[in-house]
Amino acid sequence: MVDTFFGLTNFNAGKIFMKKLSSSWGNNCKQMSDWISLDWQDEIVDFNIYPSYLVQGQGRSYGDESLNSRGAILSTRNLNKSLGFNFEARTFCAEAGITLSEILKMIVPKGFFLPVTPGTKWVSLGGAIANDVHGKNHHSKGTFGNFVVRLELLRSDGKKYLCSADQNSEYFYATIGGMGLTGIILWAEFRLQPIESSDIELEEIKFSSYEEFLSLNEQSNKNFEYTVAWFDGHYFLKSQGELQGIYMRGNHGSSLKLNQNSPLQSHQDPKWSIPCFLPNWFLNKKLLNAMNFCFFHKRLAKIVKKRVHYDPYFYPLDGINHWNRAYGEKGFYQLQSVFPINSGRKTLQEISRTIKKFDQTSFINVLKTFGEIPSHGHLKFSRPGITLCMDFKNEGISTLKMLQDLNEITFNAGGCLNPSKDSTMNKEQFKKLFQKKESEVNFFKMIDPKFSSDLFQRVRA
Ligand SMILES: Cc1cc2nc3c(=O)[nH]c(=O)nc-3n(C[C@H](O)[C@H](O)[C@H](O)COP(=O)(O)OP(=O)(O)OC[C@H]3O[C@@H](n4cnc5c(N)ncnc54)[C@H](O)[C@@H]3O)c2cc1C
Repeated sequence: MVDTFFGLTNFNAGKIFMKKLSSSWGNNCKQMSDWISLDWQDEIVDFNIYPSYLVQGQGRSYGDESLNSRGAILSTRNLNKSLGFNFEARTFCAEAGITLSEILKMIVPKGFFLPVTPGTKWVSLGGAIANDVHGKNHHSKGTFGNFVVRLELLRSDGKKYLCSADQNSEYFYATIGGMGLTGIILWAEFRLQPIESSDIELEEIKFSSYEEFLSLNEQSNKNFEYTVAWFDGHYFLKSQGELQGIYMRGNHGSSLKLNQNSPLQSHQDPKWSIPCFLPNWFLNKKLLNAMNFCFFHKRLAKIVKKRVHYDPYFYPLDGINHWNRAYGEKGFYQLQSVFPINSGRKTLQEISRTIKKFDQTSFINVLKTFGEIPSHGHLKFSRPGITLCMDFKNEGISTLKMLQDLNEITFNAGGCLNPSKDSTMNKEQFKKLFQKKESEVNFFKMIDPKFSSDLFQRVRA
């Protein structure tokens, strides 16, 4: 994220806040906002100064969901203290700005892991709840929100609400996956998963068709907690939606590995960083096609079994700080959709044709299936089906037009788009995707009248 300070502008309950240029993780939208740091749970926020407010955690959502150009941003970066373990109940409690990275450093040496983790550990606990994040174990565990025991919510009426399945439950279920629109999550307690080792026992299997991906997936989802597939984006376009790639399935390792001092070692911080935006030409089709080719063909064996630390398995992109700068100053867009498996081949073919028509290419291509475990939150992105993630360099209007067409394909296939990655959903699409069921309608009643975001301004009917 790019953060540029532009000097002091105002005071709020004795606090200084600043004008700041903030951008989403995709760097495709940059906005000036007033920026207020929340430093402790008893912070008094004056909700009468700005027309609207929005919490930002680590700003790791790709689109405009954590931006609020018409009001103020409340940053939770300093609201990051651990509030402790409950070993008996196997829960962990912390202020909402703590990152998953900080949590892992505390829980792994004690023999615990996150119940669900997204593909980066640089997200805040509040962000993980507000987007009800999913991980490689959606088929076996569902989403992060399903493990939240309770949380405290500060609303703009100045009141704090302790929320759980039994207490203020409407706020609880609206806040899980609520995109930060129901108020400030001050702290939360969630259930942990016990582990014996910080390693993952991993199998990587090459596949060469959509059918092979599906059959691997069916076998693997029964015996492996974590499953995900990378596929070759160049081959996908060349073969009009056919797949070749590497299926990765794993379980938490048991007992000690040979010559290992301690089975429970948390991760190290990354050594590499991209210090500034790379030139626009850096990521180009030729480089990408060569990388795809090498990644797929360097493995000669059909199956590779290995034991790896959790860090490179769950968080491969976290190895380089600010990797998003490789896309250049104009940034990039991520599309994440979920669509039904039955018509999945047809949907993938249409997606491939559309990308080719606009002469674009995707730099990261990930496929996985979501299982049947429903999210507890009112607003649900994760639903049974195939979920596809693709990253597109921002080439201006043609990328935006292509994304609109890709949204329509998902929409016509009966699928859904992930708001935490989105920058292009329109009002009609949002309404049709998220205002169908009674629970989704209930979500809108729980929105705090003083909270808004650039995404919400864009999609609200
Ligand atoms: C490399 C990478 C991989 C990713 N992989 C996955 C993945 O596998 N699965 C997945 O689900 N997501 C994934 N994501 C998306 C990411 O997990 C979510 O966008 C997450 O919500 C970001 O957390 P954050 O702290 O950065 O929140 P921000 O981006 O700062 O904010 C996101 C939303 O949360 C709200 N929010 C944040 N803190 C609070 C709070 N304390 N109270 C109320 N609302 C709050 C904000 O208002 C905003 O609406 C990935 C992102 C990246 C960059």
